[in-house]
Amino acid sequence: MNHSEPLFDAAPWDVDADKLREECGIFGVIGPRDAAAITALGLHALQHRGQEAVGITSFDGHEFYSRRGIGHVAQNFSSAEALAELPGIMAAGHVRYSTTGGSGLRNVQPLFADLATGGFAIAHNGNISNAMHLKRDLVQKGAIFQSTSDTEVIIHLVATSRYPTLLDRFIDALRLVEGAYSLICMTPEGMIACRDPLGIRPLVMGRIGDTYVFASETVALDVIGAEFVREVEPGELIEVSLDGKLSTTRPFGNPAARPCIFEHVYFSRPDSVMGGESVYEVRKAIGRELAREALAEADIVIPVPDSGVPAALGYAQESGIPFELGIIRSHYVGRTFIQPSDGARNADVKRKHNANRAIVQGKRIVLIDDSIVRGTTSLKIVQMMRDAGAAEVHMRIASPPTEHSCFYGVDTPERSKLLAARMDVQAMAEFIQADSLAFVSIDGLYRAVGLQGREAKCPKFCDACFTGEYPTRLTDLGERDQPQLSLPVEKVA
Ligand code: AMP
Repeated sequence: MNHSEPLFDAAPWDVDADKLREECGIFGVIGPRDAAAITALGLHALQHRGQEAVGITSFDGHEFYSRRGIGHVAQNFSSAEALAELPGIMAAGHVRYSTTGGSGLRNVQPLFADLATGGFAIAHNGNISNAMHLKRDLVQKGAIFQSTSDTEVIIHLVATSRYPTLLDRFIDALRLVEGAYSLICMTPEGMIACRDPLGIRPLVMGRIGDTYVFASETVALDVIGAEFVREVEPGELIEVSLDGKLSTTRPFGNPAARPCIFEHVYFSRPDSVMGGESVYEVRKAIGRELAREALAEADIVIPVPDSGVPAALGYAQESGIPFELGIIRSHYVGRTFIQPSDGARNADVKRKHNANRAIVQGKRIVLIDDSIVRGTTSLKIVQMMRDAGAAEVHMRIASPPTEHSCFYGVDTPERSKLLAARMDVQAMAEFIQADSLAFVSIDGLYRAVGLQGREAKCPKFCDACFTGEYPTRLTDLGERDQPQLSLPVEKVA
């Protein structure tokens, strides 16, 4: 028997794996004649959520069609020929950061299977924290997996459920799953959109006339001209039939929601609205909190573009220190974070950012970025500012120290690689060679999203990357290694 194939590519709990994990965006539309073209457009607006692979599956009332590719949406779905392969009035799509292992296209979503109830396509944003556990069990019972994606577990659970209808099988399957999932699924009857009981990853619903649309972020609705209807509620399951009838259920009770706070800090596009708040306004508010908490004596405020821009504006407005573009970003390289090796990441920072020497020279500067993960970006940027003649460099970060890995679908490396897990703030300042370094407090971050501090014992978000308090079980981490849980341990059911 061959044991060389990993159960999953770079499972987050596999501390030895130096591979990157998944971050994703999903989109689905039911109703229009050109569903695949609309999906391609929607995915394009979600490209920041995953840049390494993309897939679309469509349904024309009889057959499912699928096309998947490595690379950006525009590289795979711009041509009329590509879209002609995807006829139908319903389509769902997915963008992701793929793992760098040899598994290639087979992990690219939507995943598809022919079940006893008919065809079933699934696009998933999030991460299932007991997927290894479930997969072992399924494999023991004879399931044959086609991919190393955790999402495929859901397909097998649906396939082997004893309930008669697809919907009951689907709910039955999800009761066994823990962790984060926003899902868009297609069956011959229509589309199903749902969010895990805590609503960790986002999902919104929009409408154009009789056409329903689901997407990870509101920006995808804007781009296709759809109106925002509402968020899919945490734990809600919405079905839209092919003739446009909508029904909704809440099979998982009503636990308090814990949406991911990092969506506000970094992940979502600033022109999206999340949890009723403009992401851009929240980021500016974080900057204002940061200025109140950690004012630096400086001549200018400089954002690390693009992710630090709104927070830097807030910092400048609150402090009265002028905002300047002291770093110019090339738009022709991807995000630094997704490169496969540290070496490549280092080179990429230089290709991506350049000092605006005329602005920086001789000045005491406050540099604002949204987060420090490994510290690679900050170290290079501080150095770049000094090379350009900055007199002093004060780094301010618009999130608390990222001390803990994410097991819910945001790509953070294993703990040992997180700078804040290895050092205190003073040591981090020395590491990145800044004259000073400060992070916004967790209470400051909560105030920026409109809540009075973190309110001991009842956080309104999943903030595990900052606090280490994970809102679900992390079964695959092993029974003995469970980090602190911030909710009473109960199965997601
Ligand atoms: P690092 O160089 O590892 O410290 O990465 C920090 C930079 O990566 C910051 O400028 C962030 O804007 C960006 N970043 C933070 N978290 C993520 C993430 N999960 N995926 C991609 N980029 C990220």
